[in-house]
Amino acid sequence: MYTVAQLIGGVWGAGGEGGELVVHDPADGSPVTRTPVATADEVAKAVEAARGVAAEWAATPTAERAAALHRAADAVEAAAGELAEATTAEMGKPLEDARGGVAAGIGTLRQYAELAPVRGGRTLHGAHDALDFMAPEPRGVVAAITPWNDPVAVSCGLLGAALVTGNVVVHKPSERTPATGWLLARALDSALPAGVLSLLSGGGEVGAALSGQDVDVVAHVGSTATGRAIAAAGARTGAKVLLENGGSDPLVVDADVDPVWAAEQAALGCFANAGQICVAVERVYVHRHVAEGFLDALVARAEALTVGPGRDPETQLGPLVDRRHRDHVHGQVTAALADGARVRAGGVLPEGPGAFYPATVVEGCRHDMALVREETFGPVAAVVVVDSFSEGLRCAADSPYGLAATVLTGSMSHAQRAWRELPVGTVKINSVFGGAPGGAAQPRRGSGQGFGYGPELLDEFSTVKAVHLQAPGGGHW
Ligand code: NAD
Repeated sequence: MYTVAQLIGGVWGAGGEGGELVVHDPADGSPVTRTPVATADEVAKAVEAARGVAAEWAATPTAERAAALHRAADAVEAAAGELAEATTAEMGKPLEDARGGVAAGIGTLRQYAELAPVRGGRTLHGAHDALDFMAPEPRGVVAAITPWNDPVAVSCGLLGAALVTGNVVVHKPSERTPATGWLLARALDSALPAGVLSLLSGGGEVGAALSGQDVDVVAHVGSTATGRAIAAAGARTGAKVLLENGGSDPLVVDADVDPVWAAEQAALGCFANAGQICVAVERVYVHRHVAEGFLDALVARAEALTVGPGRDPETQLGPLVDRRHRDHVHGQVTAALADGARVRAGGVLPEGPGAFYPATVVEGCRHDMALVREETFGPVAAVVVVDSFSEGLRCAADSPYGLAATVLTGSMSHAQRAWRELPVGTVKINSVFGGAPGGAAQPRRGSGQGFGYGPELLDEFSTVKAVHLQAPGGGHW
């Protein structure tokens, strides 16, 4: 069993007066982690201590900060096996996927370590005897509040970009993956000056206390409801708020595509990580012309997935993160069935321990059902049959979210319409996942604000100062 410690003001094991939480393995319900809960006072102390070392870290040359981040990436690499095992034990994803998440996190740390030193500001063309330039500077204290669904990859992005640009960070990982957050903080802290990174533990109330503090940036990856609460706190404190929140990503299947290939794409998008990916496919608008073949192939894929504990190497579909979340997923499926939809695969709560939920295909869905409109975050394909590509595109665009969307089509003109008409941060044509390295996107509407990853995240964590240097009295220097 993991026993988590907080890191406050460079001191491991600080605080913990707010009681304790126990995390259970979602595969069998056994206890996995004991973690302290920070009090409001401990949160305030962590921020104050971070503020105390902010100026020194900000004044450290960028190349030195980048070298420290490279050493931190080495330390995370050395702990990679342990981190992947903790991820699987705490949130259930197959071990191979967890390893992939850790590897992605290490890659992101290294990418930021390479990019930060080569960034510069602009110089401006002013008077001949003046010098004008724009210099990026760190923002100060960053509160990073992160989720459980890919805990290492997501945290490394925010922490790496914030630290290398000269900010100090107070990290509050998810209460569902505290040991993973603790192991990550231990690795990163071993390569950084004391106090530059702090770790607080606990649930939403600790996140709320942190986002109400006098910090300079609150960077949150998580649900839309939490993002809105953090935005309200930011409006009170004046902190910059960076939000990467929920989504309900559509998949539009055009009339001219191979329905079996389209079903493979849909299965990958809907069932990977048991649907617990921000850019998972949540709703499918399939053209009537290919609907039957598509549904048959999707059902076959859903039924062929190997379900089991994430630590079993054969497992393709692990449990959901916990039973509370399973109730949410099943509640949306049952409501859709009560409203006339039909289940073609899965949809039944399994017997036995853990938070397992089968890969589920629901047909006969309507665009106005909660299963289609809201975020489900489970292994559920909600399928709506449409009569034209235009109808599919219109439904895909009509959403309270704006994270990403995928369109499968052989038509270049449909592909062009899709990327122009879909009001989302990322449009993918003919591939549910993937994208070139170095990409970045801004989510829209309920999905958040600001760049949450990519090179532009370095800009989000920086503030720019414009400088006008003029010789005194109109003369010379
Ligand atoms: P969540 O918002 O409930 O929790 C995320 C973090 O916020 C946790 O650390 C939690 O303790 C904290 N928190 C909860 N309530 C808070 C409050 N009132 N004030 C401050 N902090 C608070 O989200 P979750 O359930 O952990 O994660 C799943 C969600 O994350 C899904 O909606 C998913 O789409 C989203 N997500 C988005 C992205 C993205 O890049 N857009 C990536 C991963 C996950």
